[in-house]
Amino acid sequence: MKKIHQLSPQVVSQIAAGEVIERPMYAVKELIENALDAGADSIIIHIEESGLKKIVVTDNGEGMHSEDLRESFKPHTTSKITKADELSQIKTMGFRGEALSSIAAISRLSISSRTSDSPVGTKVIINDGKLEKITPVGMPVGTTVTIDHLFYSFPARKKFLKALRTELKHVIDLVINYALCYPEIHLQLAHNKKNLLDLPKSSEPVHRIEKLLGKDIFSSLIPISLSDSYITISGYLAKPSITTRTPNKQFFYINNRAISDKGISSAVKSAYGSLLANVVSPVCLLYFSLPFEMVDVNVHPRKEYVRFVDTPLLYEAIKRAVRQSLARYDLTPSTSFEALFLGDAVGSTESYAGRLMKEKKLPWELSIKVDSASVTQLHNLYLLAASNNGFILIDQHAAHERILFEQFLTEFAKEKKNLNVFHVHKPGAFNLSLSDSLLLRENLQLFQDLGWGIEYFKGTSFVLRSLPVLFQDRNYIKLLREILEDLRVNNQVQKIDSLSQKMIAYIACRGAVKAGDRLTKNQAKELLEQLEKIPNNATCPHGRPTKISIDLRMIHRLFKR
Ligand code: ADP
Ligand code: MG
Repeated sequence: MKKIHQLSPQVVSQIAAGEVIERPMYAVKELIENALDAGADSIIIHIEESGLKKIVVTDNGEGMHSEDLRESFKPHTTSKITKADELSQIKTMGFRGEALSSIAAISRLSISSRTSDSPVGTKVIINDGKLEKITPVGMPVGTTVTIDHLFYSFPARKKFLKALRTELKHVIDLVINYALCYPEIHLQLAHNKKNLLDLPKSSEPVHRIEKLLGKDIFSSLIPISLSDSYITISGYLAKPSITTRTPNKQFFYINNRAISDKGISSAVKSAYGSLLANVVSPVCLLYFSLPFEMVDVNVHPRKEYVRFVDTPLLYEAIKRAVRQSLARYDLTPSTSFEALFLGDAVGSTESYAGRLMKEKKLPWELSIKVDSASVTQLHNLYLLAASNNGFILIDQHAAHERILFEQFLTEFAKEKKNLNVFHVHKPGAFNLSLSDSLLLRENLQLFQDLGWGIEYFKGTSFVLRSLPVLFQDRNYIKLLREILEDLRVNNQVQKIDSLSQKMIAYIACRGAVKAGDRLTKNQAKELLEQLEKIPNNATCPHGRPTKISIDLRMIHRLFKR
């Protein structure tokens, strides 16, 4: 018996729809994008039961004539492109003409629309993808799309949805994502008739950012901007004290399209370098403007990812922009400390931070001068010293770690340039665990490039003939193990620079004074003075703060002066 047969058009359309509309959030996304493409400056979204029962999106865009409305929900019908070569220069959010037809295939759909040159609008009701009814309606210019019972004819998909609360959270995150990119558009979101978000139009993106990300994050943002021949980058980065473990506090927009991109994310993170701990990423909002022909948006069914013509160029630009912006600000944490002690008494940072942001001047930009002669050690752990505007507390271990790290880094770079390596007198054989030895063999070239003359001997044994001068007196086996550990955890190909930085951070940590070490007054003073002289001195190489500044005004307030 013949086993292969063609699927019915209805099944085909449901399979295709499942790829585009994977969950209620994606239906909302498509409708928002259609409203944006229609030039709306007001988008009102009402959903019920996280969108599964009902989704209504009303916009005040250009609307559709009734003859276009009749076509709009059919497969592959679009007003946005006509020829294949236009795919290389897409300027609109939509272009495939499959959103409305996909939604129609898995729900009951109705669309009402009116253009400015028609006295009345038209309403279509679509069932099973087919036009059921068409009537005139009185309505303002724009479009209202109503989706009832999404997935009702597609139980296979419904089974895979998460709890209603999770689906709602996806919708809220989506709307926030768009809101952060389109401050000039009024956006409203209601769930089960309760208003969740109502964002009036605003010409200043900062107001929305503050409202949507919260005061804490907002007050730690520093502006970023870069403009070269192809790429313009603007937006905000959080100080290293505000980080995230999930990607949903990183917002990336390419030509006003919200996207996810691991590459962009790691370029940003790598530019923070040792200011951040391994597992966290910086909170950031980055708006990129690139020539349309440099971005291919036609690579993902839901257009969440895009492809770039010249990825290295983009990543380099990002790293440059992030570094420049971080370097412009003294990153000593102080605001979080205020909040800790004074809570709301600090007053509204809201308007203050907003004002500063506009003036491109930030509180932590003021550089703090420390009186090192006043230093005193507390609990064999912290150093306390007077500063020009209060005093400063220093974590002796973290601070010394950063000092050694910066010194070693400079030394390492110098030796690498002169190709200085230390040849051990007697080649040392060493043994590793089986998994460590496999990992080292896999990465042998990397270690050789770093100046480690390691050769594989047999089994789990290796021979060391030379090593970078910096590491000559260290316990190199321990160091190797540590680095292998890191390679395994990160489970990715590491760049030489980041690997050598990790080795240096490791020996800096071993060499630094410990918590509990007693320091003489002179040693403490010396440590403080060295710290002031080096770059990136606000955090240790693992991202912990080295110093916290306490403002005298805050102390006065505590004493009710
Ligand atoms: P695409 O957006 O890829 O063109 P859709 O299926 O989302 O495909 O929409 C089909 C067409 O319907 C669009 O090209 C557009 O002409 C029209 N359309 C859809 N939504 C709206 C809207 N909110 N306002 C005006 N026109 C719309
Ligand atoms: Mg569309």
